[in-house]
Amino acid sequence: MVIIGAGIVGCSLADELTERGWTDVTVVEKGPLFATGGSSSHAPGLVFRTNGSKALTEFADYTVRKFRGMDLDGAPCFLPVGGLELATTSERWADLQRKHGLATSWGIGSQLLDPLECVELWPTIDRERILGGFHTPGDGLAKALRACEAQARRAIARGAVFLAHHEVVGIEQRGGRVSSVVTDQGVLPADVVVSAAGLWGPRIGRMAGVDVPLLPMAHQYAKTTQLAELVGVNDERHELSRPILRHQDADLYFREHVDRIGIGSYAHRPMPVDLADVPSSAAAQVMPSVLEFTAEDFEPSWQDALDLLPALQDTKVEEGFNGIMSFTTDGMPLMGESRELPGFWLAEAVWVTHSAGVARALAQWLVDGQPDTDVHECDVHRFEQVQLDTDYVHERASQAFVEVYDVLHPLQPAERPRQLRVSPFYPRQQELGAYFLEAHGWERPHWYESNAEAAEGLEVPERGAWASRYWSPAAAAEARATRGQVALYDMTPLKRLEISGRGALDFLQHMTTNQMAVRPGTVRYTLLLDEAGGVRSDLTVARLERDRFQIGVNGNLDLDWFLRHAPADGSVVVRDITAGTCCVGVWGPLARDLVQPLSRDDFSHKGFGFFKAKHARIAGVPVTAMRVSYVGELGWEIYADSDVGLRLWDALWEAGQGLGVTAGGRSAFNSLRLEKGYRSWGTDMTTEHNPFEAGVGFAVRMDKADFVGRSALVEAAAEQPRRRLVPLLMDQPEHVVMGKEPVHTADGSVGYVTSAAFGYTIGRSIAYAWLPADAAAPGTRVDVEYFAERLPATVAEEPLFDPEMARIRR
Ligand code: FAD
Repeated sequence: MVIIGAGIVGCSLADELTERGWTDVTVVEKGPLFATGGSSSHAPGLVFRTNGSKALTEFADYTVRKFRGMDLDGAPCFLPVGGLELATTSERWADLQRKHGLATSWGIGSQLLDPLECVELWPTIDRERILGGFHTPGDGLAKALRACEAQARRAIARGAVFLAHHEVVGIEQRGGRVSSVVTDQGVLPADVVVSAAGLWGPRIGRMAGVDVPLLPMAHQYAKTTQLAELVGVNDERHELSRPILRHQDADLYFREHVDRIGIGSYAHRPMPVDLADVPSSAAAQVMPSVLEFTAEDFEPSWQDALDLLPALQDTKVEEGFNGIMSFTTDGMPLMGESRELPGFWLAEAVWVTHSAGVARALAQWLVDGQPDTDVHECDVHRFEQVQLDTDYVHERASQAFVEVYDVLHPLQPAERPRQLRVSPFYPRQQELGAYFLEAHGWERPHWYESNAEAAEGLEVPERGAWASRYWSPAAAAEARATRGQVALYDMTPLKRLEISGRGALDFLQHMTTNQMAVRPGTVRYTLLLDEAGGVRSDLTVARLERDRFQIGVNGNLDLDWFLRHAPADGSVVVRDITAGTCCVGVWGPLARDLVQPLSRDDFSHKGFGFFKAKHARIAGVPVTAMRVSYVGELGWEIYADSDVGLRLWDALWEAGQGLGVTAGGRSAFNSLRLEKGYRSWGTDMTTEHNPFEAGVGFAVRMDKADFVGRSALVEAAAEQPRRRLVPLLMDQPEHVVMGKEPVHTADGSVGYVTSAAFGYTIGRSIAYAWLPADAAAPGTRVDVEYFAERLPATVAEEPLFDPEMARIRR
């Protein structure tokens, strides 16, 4: 195999692969070794591990653990000085408290410090400027270049070859697979190629015919002249003794360089770099990834640095540069094997911080078939087509740069570009005052302002400031109307596939956990597992005809998974039908009263049973109706072609006026589904969980013939789960949390929250959480940590609402 690029990612990957026995590895690098001229050659190496993403935190933690145990000729690859993040505003201070919770959830040791304690760690800080700090003693500084060489030496000792001054100029394929890498020095045959080319990733991608949606951006870094108080404190070997430091309110970070201070700034205007303008090694003044320092862009940051660290008044900026690094539209790396060109893999847009963790996960993926960390947030196939457009990548990645240190709410939608994808119901949603959030380019109503008035009379507990953002009491009225009368939910943005052909049934039997050999007209809830038995997705599969199935999936990764596994003989056709169709969920006790008068088809309980599907006409519109409900009420998902969607919505809306029909958004939907205990894949469960502990074992038919992941489940199916996903009911109804908060028992921090919402029907605040089995029994008292406060809660029996399913089966 060939790895392109000997930066921190390429070197780490060579080490991880050779350690796993893949020793026929060649790393090609266009620059010299190991100061190649890429981003790793100039990275100051700060490693702050705590991140909203569990996967990124785990990657960073592995990087620290690995580099801490490594040296290069006795010089350490990691300097464990700790990390300190400061708050100078109350908003940031609240965010650091939240971050302390995140760190605890993901197992990172941390503490909140008062200003005096911060100054004890960093005496240069102006104590009057700060409100407090978040201290992570296990963070520190990675010496990226040393770590590159140390890992490369290990790989070389196991048989890997590193070729300097070999520029990749082409990728060749044969028989639909990658076959070789063409360099300016000759051709290297390869069955597997990993592009770890950093900011040059899109160029390598083009050679392989693969979109690499990242944007190279300049980011400023400067060093001061000598700071008197540091003289004699550090030496060349231990360049720093104080924690690496973040002052995010001014988009700044700091570290010591022996007796100087290094300052990184994200405060400047976004400076996207055209790859054509990145100089070659020969033409570069310093190195290809280093552009000239634009001092005027740094000036405001320098003033902010002086405000925080007044002792810098006696210094000045001695040197600086505009370094180039990669940004993606969602701030996450790009990992995985291209489907367009099998054998061609990506490991790109990776920080030094996450480098070893990403390399380990990719090596596991290559060697064992899947990583043990869930990487769906990093998978290169996560994007929809509209998200791969160059202008989109440019705009979103530039915004990601601006927001890199911002306090971001988990629901906060991107402001631009918007209205990329809208359902046929969009004009009506606008008329009803929909408040839209965005997902995968889709505009999705979160609530409707038209329902705010109806909420006025309802008793909705006051929630905290954070949980009040991107929320409206209108959601309470929508939830109430769903349980009381009938509501329309736009389900169009949820991806749906058609799988058809003479091999379709066998294919689905093999791919999914539930029994698919059912009568046409039957719907099944089922799972996709990976080979290790982890939950890759959950699906609803409707067998519409003998050889035709419609499948509700969780996104592009499911499409990718099916396409990869589909037999090559043409017996199975997998088609994404999302764009040409739409879906309205009609749910509530009056759903039948709404739908039946509009149709000559039988929508009675007898004529249209639970988990059944049929073609029908509603108000003259040809539809496929499925009697399923993610909110726990009588009703149907009604699918139609997009062109007749608006007519369908209008007909239902008009006919529903006498029944109190209401439009419902995602906010109400989320509350209703949690009352019923319905899982959301990616949030509540991932590949890291098996179906039994996740509470979806009912969808696994171990007695069915073999299916992907079955053999890995045999043991788990016979055992009691060691952990469980369970609902917590908060003691106080106003205690609404958001997800990812740590859960404590007397034994300490034992788990974390996945999804949370106020349950408007049960009048209680709900938080689903992963807990060890011995803390998961109903009645167990726990605390949820929220903004550094302990909120008491109790593990409850699920489902929290209508356990007899009486409301759905009528
Ligand atoms: P690179 O190190 O760029 O390696 C890619 C390699 O591919 C290069 O050596 C290149 O020469 C080679 N290559 C490209 N094209 C070809 C080709 N056609 N043929 C052969 N070889 C090729 N991250 C942190 O975690 N902490 C920090 O404190 C930090 N600070 C930063 C400060 C600045 C100013 C900048 C700009 C970035 C910083 N980063 C930091 C980010 C970090 O530097 C990068 O994310 C990381 O180094 C990327 O590593 P890489 O191996 O993917 O890329």
